[in-house]
Amino acid sequence: MAPTAKETEWQPTTAAGVSDGPLCVVRDLEKHYPITRGWLRREVGRVRAVDGVSFALERGETLGLVGESGSGKTTVAHALLGLEEPTAGSVEFDGTLVSELSGDAERSFRRRAQLVVQDPDDALDPRMRVGETVAEPLRIHGIDSRPRREAIVADVLERVGLAADDAARYPHEFSGGEKQRISIARALVTNPDLIVADEPTSALDARVRADVLDLLDRIRREFDVAILFVSHDLGVVERFCDRVAVMYLGEFVERGATEDVLSSPAHPYTRVLRSSVPSLDPTDRTRGRPLTDTVPAPSDPPSGCRFHPRCPAVIPSADLDLPAETWREVAAFRFAVEADELPPGAVGDGSRDGGRNGDDDDAVTPSDVRAAVGLREPLPDADAERAVADAAASLADGDRESAGETLDDAFPTVCEREAPTAVERETGGTVACLRHDPTAAASPVADDESE
Ligand code: SF4
Repeated sequence: MAPTAKETEWQPTTAAGVSDGPLCVVRDLEKHYPITRGWLRREVGRVRAVDGVSFALERGETLGLVGESGSGKTTVAHALLGLEEPTAGSVEFDGTLVSELSGDAERSFRRRAQLVVQDPDDALDPRMRVGETVAEPLRIHGIDSRPRREAIVADVLERVGLAADDAARYPHEFSGGEKQRISIARALVTNPDLIVADEPTSALDARVRADVLDLLDRIRREFDVAILFVSHDLGVVERFCDRVAVMYLGEFVERGATEDVLSSPAHPYTRVLRSSVPSLDPTDRTRGRPLTDTVPAPSDPPSGCRFHPRCPAVIPSADLDLPAETWREVAAFRFAVEADELPPGAVGDGSRDGGRNGDDDDAVTPSDVRAAVGLREPLPDADAERAVADAAASLADGDRESAGETLDDAFPTVCEREAPTAVERETGGTVACLRHDPTAAASPVADDESE
């Protein structure tokens, strides 16, 4: 059997000692970016990219950080590597605060924590031979002997499935998948304890993606390296990660063992992400669809639960008496108006005048609006019906603002008032949703309610 990387001659000493605890500990991490205006650069707001995230990463473990674009996962990954200075909270690596590292300890950290980026072209200098690119971190970290560097590079290239003599070639001579292998070799060459892989397969086609995931999996076992795997793709995380943390608008909404979280997602957002993973099982009832597609801006996150304008399980106020499916349609109507995501035919141009000025056959009517948003039938609750009828009339007249105000007033939700805190999931891990909070007056959404 081939020796593992930890058994090869390349065993650099570490300036920082190895502690007994987790490799990385992130506590209450916040990263806000000020929004400034004017020549005085006065702060007028903040992009809350990460807002109070905590987790630990064990040695040799693979943790998936998953969420849509803009959820803050790359910011967390960069903070872990010390590439972003936290606004608040802390990041510890092997028992030492990353923000306090300097000198030899910082050099050791830079060697032990490596990044693999999405696009390998960003990591490879087209003018440098592959061997020089892969050897560069060794040179930076004090391996002065050229023959030794070349021997280590040849070994690592073979370990990532390339040939030792590929060292003499240039990046443009390789395919996308091979380039990603080179950038993985460059990350591995310093024998790291942590690799942060930021969407490492999303620029690759499906077949190559599977090969690169197999490689990362083998490397994880062979090199005993912890991997923080950042991805928007739950299918990839499912295949590759021991644990998963689901992020939405800068916060963790659900965490736990990958198998538990993905086989029985507790948070409606995890269910939404699950619905984008193709399933061959027609009885798969763990799917959900968001009420709206627009992800709100992190500079102005929604009040209460940040997911509420999109949540298919959003909780109605206690005094509203509608069947669950009708409530979901009404909520979808309200938030579609708010997000300006109404379907075609749901907004008039103000030309409707009841035929007073001639033929207005083409004008959008309130009935057209109701048909377009799926609320054709009168609602069983008189007040709710009146509000929907008024909003539909406003939209037929082209008045979105008035329609939005009517719906906001008539259909408030518990979830815009109260921010959920993380509670234990039944099968381990945590979930931040009022439907799982025993102190909130709502029950978890059943599987057959989620579609
Ligand atoms: S708190 Fe409300 S809006 Fe947020 S995920 Fe739970 S049900 Fe949905």
